[in-house]
Parts: sequence; C-alpha cells; structure tokens
Amino acid sequence: MRIAEMTFVEYEARLRETDPVVVIPAGALEQHGPHLPLATDAIIPTRLAEMAAPRINGLIAPAFTYGVRSQPKSGGGEHFCGTTSLWGSTYALMLSDVVQAFGRHGVKKLVILDGHSENQHFLVEGIERALIELRRDGITDMRVIRLGYWTTISQSVQDVLFPTGPVNWDLEHAAVMETSVMMHLEPGLVRLDKIPDEPMAVFPPYETFPLDPRPIPSCGALSSARAATAEKGRVVVDSLLDDFATIIPSAFA
Ligand code: ZN
Ligand code: MN
Repeated sequence: MRIAEMTFVEYEARLRETDPVVVIPAGALEQHGPHLPLATDAIIPTRLAEMAAPRINGLIAPAFTYGVRSQPKSGGGEHFCGTTSLWGSTYALMLSDVVQAFGRHGVKKLVILDGHSENQHFLVEGIERALIELRRDGITDMRVIRLGYWTTISQSVQDVLFPTGPVNWDLEHAAVMETSVMMHLEPGLVRLDKIPDEPMAVFPPYETFPLDPRPIPSCGALSSARAATAEKGRVVVDSLLDDFATIIPSAFA
C-alpha cells in the first residue's frame, strides 16, 4: 500500500482496477521537545494512514516531511535547532506539482492528511492551484480532501486525554496528545526519561517581529506532557481510525 515501494506497473494497475484513495501525509521537521523526534508531525499521519489503508482502499504516498514555517504560538518557532521549514509560497507550489501529477495519472480520490497546523492554508492554496491547472487540461474528475488528523477527536476522547479540564489545542505542541499518540504508535522513538513538565506557555495576544523568544518555553513543549500515556494514545488512535473509515469514503461518495 506504500506507493514508493510499488513498481509503476503495479501502481498503474491498482489505479485502474480499484480506484483507490491516495493519502499524502503532510508533516514537518520541527522540534518536539526533548522527548519526541523532529519528524513527529509526519510520523503520526503516516502511521495513521497506513493503519487506515485497509478500511478505505488506501494507497499511501510519501509524506511531505518538511512543513510550513513553525509559528512560535503553535510549534515554538524557527529558532529551535532542527526546525527546518519551507516558506508557505514554496510549499504551496510543491504540493500543487505533486497533486497535479497524481491527477494526470488517474488518481480521482486524494486525501491530504495534515499533521502540522501551519501547513493548512498553504495546502489549500496548493490544492486549488492544482485543480485549476488540471481543469485547464480537461481533467475534472479528481476530488481532494484536506483533513487535519486531530480535527475529529471527540469530546469523549478529549475527556480521556485531559481529565482535568478543557484543552488549549494551540498549546498542545509536543504535549499530552502528541506524546501519548507517539507512545502508542512508536514507543521506541519516545525518550520517556526526558518528558517535560513545564507550565503552559503564556503568550500576549499579539505577535512580535522580530521574534521575542521569551514567552516560548526553552524545552520546546508548549504545555506539560507529563500526563501522557500509551493507553491515552491508543484511545485516540482507535477513535481516529474509526472516524477515518467513515468520513473518508463518505467524502468521495
Ligand atoms: Zn506536532
Ligand atoms: Mn507542528
């Protein structure tokens, strides 16, 4: 189900014969605290897509592992070593090129499964640009869904993740949700002895240019990750896989 591991002959036959859903995971190479790997935002949607694939007739494209520039209030910002990003304009054009190629080769159902919130508006620009170009060439039968993987997490799952009260999703960077999901999906990549327990970041209502790094916790996590557990991660992942199995086929119905 990984396109990168198929031959072109196998891939072409699969497109023609089964009209699959192609999923592009859209991640980032971005600091995720002292305890999670730089590619966390790519690893999570890639693993979710692979696990969902049998239930959605899915084929998984290679992830976009460089993301749109990290914002201080949602990912810590660009000054962290290892946070390696693209300008939004570059990103939208790269995505557009890839979406167009899939469309020209006969992909009719494409899901962009986003793992990095800063990507979202540039994903939209890339998708829309690609569809305009394809339409100009007479290709009108491709439909694209953009989905942030976390967006369907229900209130009951949030109650498991955050039993002490409501969450500020913007500040969940490298915190309870991502850490729990990684503990479940990729336990060997989580440095359990380095899980940070700093208080939640407090930002002013404006953004400062040039960057004022003082409100950004130096550990990189924007909230404490101490309450993360692999069991919480399992609850999140199981519910997301059920959601995807319903949402994605109905989006293409
Ligand atoms: Zn992340
Ligand atoms: Mn991110």
